[in-house]
Amino acid sequence: MTDQMTVEKDLTTGGRVGYLRIAVEEAYAPPELVRSFRDLLDRPDVDPGFESLMGFYLRSDAERPRAVQRKLQDLGDERLADMDSAGIDHAVVSLTAPGTQVLDVARAREIATVANDRIADACLWHPGRFSGLAAVGFEDASSAVVELERAVTQLGLKGLICNSHVKGHYLDEPQFYPILEAAEALGVPIYLHPQTPPAQMIGPMLDAGLDGAIFGFGVETGMHVLRLIVAGVLDRFPRLKLVVGHLGEALPYWLYRLDWMHAAQVRAARYESSKPLELTPSEYFRRNIWITTSGMAWPPAIMFCREVVGADRVLYAMDYPYQFVADEVRIQDDLPMSRDELRAFYETTAVELFNLDFPRLAQGGGDG
Ligand code: MN
Repeated sequence: MTDQMTVEKDLTTGGRVGYLRIAVEEAYAPPELVRSFRDLLDRPDVDPGFESLMGFYLRSDAERPRAVQRKLQDLGDERLADMDSAGIDHAVVSLTAPGTQVLDVARAREIATVANDRIADACLWHPGRFSGLAAVGFEDASSAVVELERAVTQLGLKGLICNSHVKGHYLDEPQFYPILEAAEALGVPIYLHPQTPPAQMIGPMLDAGLDGAIFGFGVETGMHVLRLIVAGVLDRFPRLKLVVGHLGEALPYWLYRLDWMHAAQVRAARYESSKPLELTPSEYFRRNIWITTSGMAWPPAIMFCREVVGADRVLYAMDYPYQFVADEVRIQDDLPMSRDELRAFYETTAVELFNLDFPRLAQGGGDG
């Protein structure tokens, strides 16, 4: 007989462990985007955060960035083999940071269309293995709405990727409201994914080597989430669904202080921008926000997040190919949860949140 624990930690796909593993923050770059990134890196006025991030991944000769660069552009055999080796049944693929959000308006539109078509093709070729999120060019909101509607209603994509700030601008600014309104009306989530902080924020992070995924990503993206909350965007669009990676970019740990200080600031009328909200900041986390474990395979932090934002709002993500570590799947398989809780964490919360409808292979071993 096979040892029970060995079976439970087995990184096989197909549901033998009791659930399908769905990874929801999995990055893709069409070769056309990589070419645009290379062109931007050659410009004398290149953004410092972009140069730090993509200068590393596209110009370094070290082994990891070269592998990341290659894997980012693949939606076929190499990615499927990597998913198989880590026990990942299904990946929700999205355009890698900073995506369209460093490009000029026309190129952003073109790349969004190419990315959406390419991801939709991969979903058609491998319907059991891939779903995808839509990209748009955020600076032209009316064309972004048209592209989001096309991607969701015609291509079958399941949400919108936003790689945080748009050249130093944030989604709480009214020029982006039509995009938020369209996502809310379509019922699809917006995945608010990091990129490097904008020029006006990056200075003291960059010289310390803290601007990237190590810290700056989380600070900037966490602030983006908070801007949406305190600006009242989630009162204006109460059914908007936001997905935030890296265990909520540290915000769950801040919720007590955010609630206390926001209430104090509103009472004191200290800032024009600190207006009364319909809910407390932490209540928006329990109504509008889901958080994923991308890059944060750390059981105490995962369990803390489940406690403070709700177990039904914390779901699995890998962050392929940037953090492709099969042992992190084993760690999360071993979280102190029941089989039903693990199934929600890896499978059913993602299915419901993104309205996934992929075909399932026959599940379970011979005796079910
Ligand atoms: Mn990521």
